[in-house]
Amino acid sequence: MSVKTPLSCLSLVVIMTVNSVLFAQSPATSSADILQSLQKLNTVATVLYVAAHPDDENTRLLAYLAKEKKFRTAYLSLTRGDGGQNLIGSEQGDMLGVIRTEELLAARKVDGAEQYFTRAVDFGYSKNPAETFTHWDKKTILGDVVLTIRRLRPDIIICRFPTTGEGGHGHHTASAMLALEAFALAADSTAFTDQLREVKVWQAKRILWNTFNFGATNTTAPDQFKLDVGAYNVLEGKSYGEIAAESRTNHKSQGFGSAAQRGSSIEYFKLMKGDAVVSDIFEGVNSNWSRFPKGNAIGAKIDKCIKAFDPLHPELSVPDLLKLHQALKVLALTNGKSSYYYQKQLELEQIIFQCAGIWMECNAKEVVAIPGEKVKLTAQFLVRNPLLVQMKSVSFNSATDTVVNDTMNHNMLFKCTRDIVVPDNTPYTDPYWLKVPHEQAIHIVHQPKMIGLPQMDCPLTATYHFVIGKSEFKVVKPVVYKLTDPVLGEYYKPLEILPPITVTPMRSVLVTGDDQEKSLFFLVKTNVDNFEGTLNVKMTSKLDVRVLNPSFSLEKKGDEKLIEVKVKIKDPQFSGNLKAYVMRNDKRYGMAIQRIAYNHIPHRFILKEADVKLVRTDLKMAGKKLAYIEGAGDDVAECLSDVGYSVTALNNDQLMNDDLSIYDAIVVGIRAFNTNEKLYLCQDRLMAYVKNGGRLIVQYNTNSRVGPLNAGIGPYKFTISRNRVTDERAEVRFVNDSLKVLQYPNAIMQNDFKNWVQERGIYFATEVDSAYHYVFEMNDPNEKSDKGALITANYGKGYFVYTGLAFFRQLPAGVPGAYRLMINLLSQPTKP
Ligand SMILES: [Zn+2]
Repeated sequence: MSVKTPLSCLSLVVIMTVNSVLFAQSPATSSADILQSLQKLNTVATVLYVAAHPDDENTRLLAYLAKEKKFRTAYLSLTRGDGGQNLIGSEQGDMLGVIRTEELLAARKVDGAEQYFTRAVDFGYSKNPAETFTHWDKKTILGDVVLTIRRLRPDIIICRFPTTGEGGHGHHTASAMLALEAFALAADSTAFTDQLREVKVWQAKRILWNTFNFGATNTTAPDQFKLDVGAYNVLEGKSYGEIAAESRTNHKSQGFGSAAQRGSSIEYFKLMKGDAVVSDIFEGVNSNWSRFPKGNAIGAKIDKCIKAFDPLHPELSVPDLLKLHQALKVLALTNGKSSYYYQKQLELEQIIFQCAGIWMECNAKEVVAIPGEKVKLTAQFLVRNPLLVQMKSVSFNSATDTVVNDTMNHNMLFKCTRDIVVPDNTPYTDPYWLKVPHEQAIHIVHQPKMIGLPQMDCPLTATYHFVIGKSEFKVVKPVVYKLTDPVLGEYYKPLEILPPITVTPMRSVLVTGDDQEKSLFFLVKTNVDNFEGTLNVKMTSKLDVRVLNPSFSLEKKGDEKLIEVKVKIKDPQFSGNLKAYVMRNDKRYGMAIQRIAYNHIPHRFILKEADVKLVRTDLKMAGKKLAYIEGAGDDVAECLSDVGYSVTALNNDQLMNDDLSIYDAIVVGIRAFNTNEKLYLCQDRLMAYVKNGGRLIVQYNTNSRVGPLNAGIGPYKFTISRNRVTDERAEVRFVNDSLKVLQYPNAIMQNDFKNWVQERGIYFATEVDSAYHYVFEMNDPNEKSDKGALITANYGKGYFVYTGLAFFRQLPAGVPGAYRLMINLLSQPTKP
């Protein structure tokens, strides 16, 4: 199945369509919405917008295309934004990708466009497309872009970025390069031939670059093609600048709350390839039904329906819409499911239901369902406008048919409740693209039909089979769960299909410098009543492992218990995983669960193998007592406490008033001077602490128009640049082998820079005063060597460090060398 229903205009899911946005709530449909849907039904053009990340998209242009031009409009984001920052919580990587996927879907609900993805993983900042393609398998991602074009059949493709690099980020440039190549390849019957079983080749008319003015970079010019997207939509009571701001504000994890723009606003475009343009970028695109052989008659019928539409009595439109539906159905049958007719037939069905005031929903009694176990489902159906609807049957999970054969009385709620056994082979509802762990920067998806889709629908469904006039409809609705919260009111949650028990480690990494016995805790949580089992761990000869009280019994669904595992790492240089699992009646359960719960998006979870990364390395420490100044949020303090430091978090008051001399070192969290507005006022205290013999380690801060620094952050002058080394394998050269910081208490070697993750470092120091020492030199391929990753200085009796090295990524990932180097910074001798 290649065609998806647009997100903008439907409240129901028709047979086999995939649409997760519907989880969030039961959408209201006003007569103004219906009228817009009718106008959209009368328009047959498609635009595909392409960029690299969630938040790259131009929501104002998308809203204008979807709601003013009434085109089918879609945004293809190559990635799910897994490598970005997170301003609302501590989720990183795959978890962040799930959040940003949902934020995109929430944004599309507002601006009326659809959302698609490729399998590319956002692996973090990339300086150029050549580097990007060393991480992404180009052929796979190109194939995904081609597939999206062949599925959607856009008339026009618009890139956010150019192929020439003005977009900065390597992913951005790569997105335009891939779109440009795919523009031609989608029409080539010899390219990606395996797709042609599902879709046909397609040649879009042209591909354009939507030039931009992002403050420092202005790529717009008066001689480019222009489009005024500042129009006002009377049916919405908003202009597209207002709708765009509402849409964009959903990117909350990126801090993209946006102001509404009102009045005329011009978008600029440059032709990249395809048919020439004189002035209008839509030249030659016929968006009327007349573009199809039998289209004129269809267009005339829709025109008539629009003219006759009575906002107070939308049900009066139903007889004419049913005739139109009959005509479209015949055309869709002869032209196939990838045709426009089929697409429009689905759209029209939603409009018919909306005109009839039909509401339907299937709820589960509980939020969790288990394969092989029973679940109580209630299907509801309501006809809110005076219109005759005959219900033939309701079936649950396309199995048990409940024959109804009854007339649905006007505004009388129909309810049907059944206990259904969830089929044993029902998939868990964790994100489909994370079901197989990925080692490379590409998501592994075993079901080709899922590739590109934003989310998977709930596999449990209710199917309503009913008749309006002489037309029969079968509507499949995914099961949802809803609850009433005293503060939030009624809200919806996706139904969770879960294993009977989850085994979740309370930490993901344990790093140690010795062979002392350490405690790990696993949380076992049952999703069924009366679960009796034992917790087991996979043994290796390099570890001594004991599970304390492995047998457990949990009486009620939702009950949980912590089980302690004692582990001793015997091998002095160890790095490996300890896997845990629960056994019950010869069956093995080893999935850990991580939850994502924010109110602006549907709640989601990730399932992964229950394991803890164990690392033992040589760690010598001097000093024990640390203070930590929290910044934008990182796990460095926790990691240091894991290896034996006593760590106290200090707020500004404590910094000003407490005796700081009791601390062996003070560590400043990432971007603390940017996020803690008053921290600069404590700068004199911190410098006095260093002068009197303290050690102060400042992790990266930024210095920009958005996040300016109010004062210097070291005892001598330096500037924070945007210089970074993104290649986590980049060679690290020692400026001077005999520097104490490379010797004491741990001898730092090349080996310590192995297996770093994502990047070496960011926001390096520059214009550095000669009182500082450089320690390392490094660079990305084909770039100049940079010494700013780590600078140190003696000041008074003490020691000061500024470092852009990405300790905040390496320590939580259990990179031994990063621990050894950080401990050296914390342990440097000072004068008595
Ligand atoms: Zn981006």
